[in-house]
Order: sequence, then structure tokens, then C-alpha cells
Amino acid sequence: MTELRACRNCRAITTEERCPICGGETTDQWQGYVFILNKDKSRIAQEMGADNGEFALRVR
Ligand SMILES: [Zn+2]
Repeated sequence: MTELRACRNCRAITTEERCPICGGETTDQWQGYVFILNKDKSRIAQEMGADNGEFALRVR
């Protein structure tokens, strides 16, 4: 099983050491998995300022 990581900058979930979205540093120290299908209808997405995709709720 591949370990999932989260971007420190935009909180996107990835398996890479560099975020494929913003190029930021990723970490395995994160909590809370959020999958956003439609950011316009997702209150969580609007609060996070996130786009559609997989994100971590909290990144250390
Ligand atoms: Zn990022």
C-alpha cells in the first residue's frame, strides 16, 4: 500500500513528495480525508478555499 501524503500549501492528497497541483512540499503528517466532487455545492470546499479533488482537513 502506498502511503498518502498531503500538500502543506494547498492540502491536496498525493503520493508524490511534491504537490502535482501547486508544486509545494508534501507531508505524511496529516489528518482528515475530504473528497470534493462539486466545490460550488460543498460548504467544506468553500471554507477551505479548495478546488475539486482529494484534500486533507488538517496538515501539520
Ligand atoms: Zn499543493
